[in-house]
Amino acid sequence: MTADNTSFDVVILGGGSGGYACALRASQLGLTVALVEKDKVGGTCLHRGCIPTKALLHAAEIADAVRESAQFGVNASLEGVDLRQVNTYKDEIVGRLYKGLQGLIKSREITVVQGNGRLVGPRTVEVDGIRYDGKHVVLASGSVTRSLPGLDIDGERVVSSWEAMQLDTVPQRVVVIGGGVIGVEFASAWRSFGAEVTILEALPRLLAAEDPSSSKALERAFRKRGIVVEANTAFSSLERTPSGVRVAAESGETHEADICLVAVGRGPHTANLGYEEQGVELERGFVATNERLQTKLAGAYAVGDIVPGMQLAHRGFQHGIFVAEDIAGLEPAVINEAGIPRVTYCEPEVASVGLSEDQAKAAHGPDEIESLTYDLGGNGKSQILKTQGFVKVVRRRGGPVLGVHMVGSRVGELIGEAQLIYSWEAFPEDVSALVHMHPTQNEALGEAHLALAGKPLHSHS
Ligand code: NAD
Repeated sequence: MTADNTSFDVVILGGGSGGYACALRASQLGLTVALVEKDKVGGTCLHRGCIPTKALLHAAEIADAVRESAQFGVNASLEGVDLRQVNTYKDEIVGRLYKGLQGLIKSREITVVQGNGRLVGPRTVEVDGIRYDGKHVVLASGSVTRSLPGLDIDGERVVSSWEAMQLDTVPQRVVVIGGGVIGVEFASAWRSFGAEVTILEALPRLLAAEDPSSSKALERAFRKRGIVVEANTAFSSLERTPSGVRVAAESGETHEADICLVAVGRGPHTANLGYEEQGVELERGFVATNERLQTKLAGAYAVGDIVPGMQLAHRGFQHGIFVAEDIAGLEPAVINEAGIPRVTYCEPEVASVGLSEDQAKAAHGPDEIESLTYDLGGNGKSQILKTQGFVKVVRRRGGPVLGVHMVGSRVGELIGEAQLIYSWEAFPEDVSALVHMHPTQNEALGEAHLALAGKPLHSHS
């Protein structure tokens, strides 16, 4: 198929994870594609989220390894953390990936339209006065930092994750508002770099979307690391002081710090883009879709963070691929959102897939659910790494695995296997017949399934 300058099979508004994945897959399927992006292709994940923050967290891991090296018989001392150098390392990674992505997009003959796009017709996006018409349009405009009343992000003393990842010196004291994913990842990195960190979380626990056992283990580990966790503590007000900020909670307690990180969630970027005017239905700012990601406007799809659900880059990729295939008539299977793995890259890491124990009980009845927690204390490689935590497997009694939850250093790397187990509806008995390499942390996943299948090896019956 060929396109003139402004008519395409698919016009995509937003070049982040969801948008560019859709563009790559659509062009692979022979469709002509325009990808509209006001900033840089790659979006939040590549430039302001996943990639830069994970580079910071890796530098943090190295700082911890040096600080704790004597425990392993290696004598080294941590002289300091040069955040400028950390930023150079981080920015180089982002730069290389950005270059690679641009090359990939070019090689697939996708037309990248640089500028602010707006939906001006049912399937028409306008950029700088030029209209791009699609047979289909895909809304992929992503998310933005949210704040609270009385909490103005000034980028210096009161920062969002964007400014937080660009600091050139380590703050001495930080207050983090919100103990969700962004809050705990930055708290973890800053603590490793030497800061005093306090997290204020309105709900009773950190990472409230995870199984409660994971939150409990993380809080215990954070307390041991000297991170102060104030749960059930909602933000009330903030005032500037000569040296920083004073943050007050609704309970009346106050915390002084050099800077305050606002990490109370990200909102959909859907305002002033012409969506509602053209008949796209919004619900609390998110785009309402059916399970095939079709909006209320015929021919218009939505993908990624603007669709209600978890705001994760890999969910965006999957949405993008799904929509491209749907447009091409391949009739892809609907995405099971519970099968999307989740990893929080703090130290220790928290990873999960499928249902929590409570969700499984609510879905199938309490008597139908069985769970088993395998302590990483019994796993040789975890002992070598000196990490603590667990692998918890939730199954339907006599049935398949419904959820896997893990805490410990590096457990994010184990979630791939857990995802296959969950998504292929494996029984613990099936998994127990598979051989897990010794000594690896992966073995802990095998041991948990052996135990749940009634034949524990390195754990008590
Ligand atoms: P979040 O929703 O994960 O956490 C926000 C937290 O702020 C919640 O726990 C909430 O209870 C708390 N909060 C809200 N109002 C408060 C108040 N007044 N006082 C105190 N606490 C309050 O959001 P986030 O951490 O900002 O992350 C935004 C999005 O980005 C999430 O959807 C997240 O999944 C995604 N993200 C994912 C990763 C990852 O997968 N590793 C990393 C970073 C961000």
